[in-house]
Amino acid sequence: MTDNAYKLPDGNVLISFSGGRTSGYMLHKILEANGDLPERCKVVFANTGREMPETLDFVHECSTRWRVPVTFLEFTKEKPKFKVVGHNQASRNGQPFEDLIRQNRYIPNTLRRKCTVELKVLTIKRFLVSCGWEYWTNTVGIRADESRRVKESIDKRWTNWFPVFEAHETKHDVAEFWTKQNLAFDLQLPLINGITPQSNCDGCFLKSELKLAEMWRDHPDKMEWWSNLEKEFGHTFRRDGISYEQIKENLEKQGDFVFDVEGFFCQADDGECTG
Ligand code: SF4
Repeated sequence: MTDNAYKLPDGNVLISFSGGRTSGYMLHKILEANGDLPERCKVVFANTGREMPETLDFVHECSTRWRVPVTFLEFTKEKPKFKVVGHNQASRNGQPFEDLIRQNRYIPNTLRRKCTVELKVLTIKRFLVSCGWEYWTNTVGIRADESRRVKESIDKRWTNWFPVFEAHETKHDVAEFWTKQNLAFDLQLPLINGITPQSNCDGCFLKSELKLAEMWRDHPDKMEWWSNLEKEFGHTFRRDGISYEQIKENLEKQGDFVFDVEGFFCQADDGECTG
């Protein structure tokens, strides 16, 4: 592994901070390799409104401790279809996500992940274009053990850069880094078997049935949001057609041992929702 993998490329550079341990690690390595970031580099966190509060705090803490500005963005229904918010004002009730669903009049699912595209990818793009950027490098926190998620950009405005992957660093390296940090400074979400079940959107439909059942058990108030939208729109988020209400009922009837443990894409191996 080499820190040269973290040397900034020329031109404008976006660092997508997804709010998880991998992208936090990536940001730290970039700061180590380059010192203070130049003007042509922006660190951005796109808040869906369904992140756990601990995730918002973690992003803020990284920004404060490492003295690096992180721009919090949110999708809006009205043009310019994004807004800059502070850590304190960032939505914690799902408003950006719900605005997107109501505007499109359908709920996203595994095959149509409009949430990632609109709430993250396009929200960040609109912001950068408003800053006068025409082209840029998009820095994404994907590890060497997630190589199947490495892909070229389909948008002509940016090329993707995966420094953690290029440095051949894995989940093990990321975990080791965070273990060495001051104990009070880590993403305050539990790690279970090396996985953070509550990372990314709290009730993300890409999570396994088991993780969603755990969320029902631990955070029923948060899961009601997802369930209520399914009832209102008459569709399920999940491609297997299992509703959030059914998962809750199964949990109440049988305990969590019956649930499918397979997650999809980023959620399968504790990756971060990056688009
Ligand atoms: S974490 Fe899941 S629900 Fe949230 S934006 Fe990503 S794919 Fe959509």
